[in-house]
Amino acid sequence: MNQSADSLPPRAAVIINPAKGEAADVRAMMTTVSSNNGWAAPLFLETTPEDGGTSQARQALAENVDVVIAAGGDGTVRCVAAVLSGTGTALGIIPLGTGNLLARNLGLDINDPAAAAREALTGANRPIDVILATVDHARDQQLFLVMAGLGFDAAVMADTKDGLKDTVGWLAYVDAGIRKLPGRPVKATITIDAGHSTVHRLRGVTCGNCGKLQGGVELFPGARFDDGELDLMVVAPRGRLGWLGVLAGLFSRGRSKDPSVEYFHGKTAEISVATPQAFQLDGDPLGEASHLTLTVDAGALLVRQAGS
Ligand SMILES: [Mg+2]
Repeated sequence: MNQSADSLPPRAAVIINPAKGEAADVRAMMTTVSSNNGWAAPLFLETTPEDGGTSQARQALAENVDVVIAAGGDGTVRCVAAVLSGTGTALGIIPLGTGNLLARNLGLDINDPAAAAREALTGANRPIDVILATVDHARDQQLFLVMAGLGFDAAVMADTKDGLKDTVGWLAYVDAGIRKLPGRPVKATITIDAGHSTVHRLRGVTCGNCGKLQGGVELFPGARFDDGELDLMVVAPRGRLGWLGVLAGLFSRGRSKDPSVEYFHGKTAEISVATPQAFQLDGDPLGEASHLTLTVDAGALLVRQAGS
């Protein structure tokens, strides 16, 4: 930073999802917290149904702000992070709504927006990994921060009203998977770090950057978003009883020997399925895909977190 920039008070951009109930309060709160901490009045930008934060984050970068704060749920965070990744400009998070899986994994206070706002302004920059997904050999990669799913979890998510997602949480998807058994097992080939491939008949495969769900359940035991590795969970239950094995696997934090759930980890993963399957990134259903390549971009995103 040069001297003339140093002499000006720092300024944050706040990208708000106005559909979240608490959004109306965020502007006033953010203005107060900025002023109390010696920051300039923030630049407020709202997401729209068509643009969940991408162009807003680009505008924030163009205005040379010191931190870009996503005030919304995991979808808003993902869109903003995709623009900030690799730029050296940090992401702050004010969690709104009730999902907020990245914020939970970061240990941010998800029930106190003012505390989250202070942390976004005054916290330290922490580098975390992001995962880049290439879907069906497309030219553009899509970034996610928490998890991507191909198969049953994405299918259930696509069917699930936001209300259920917000109130019951991600475990509702597993429960719905057990009850609804959408689709059939599909033949899939999985290759980790361009090595030996394994063939599965699976119902779904989920890739995680970090491990925690709501309610303290760890989907990927021991997964960290700063270890340069992605984690894969292959769900291949045999019949209805097999879903009980899946649940047992989830609740045993990876200690279950049940073959219904298998874990892999590495820096890259390639997944191809014989027939297109629903897929989701950080809980947003994004259609169907039959081929995914997943690559860790280690430490690419700076997030603001209270100093330790
Ligand atoms: Mg990791």
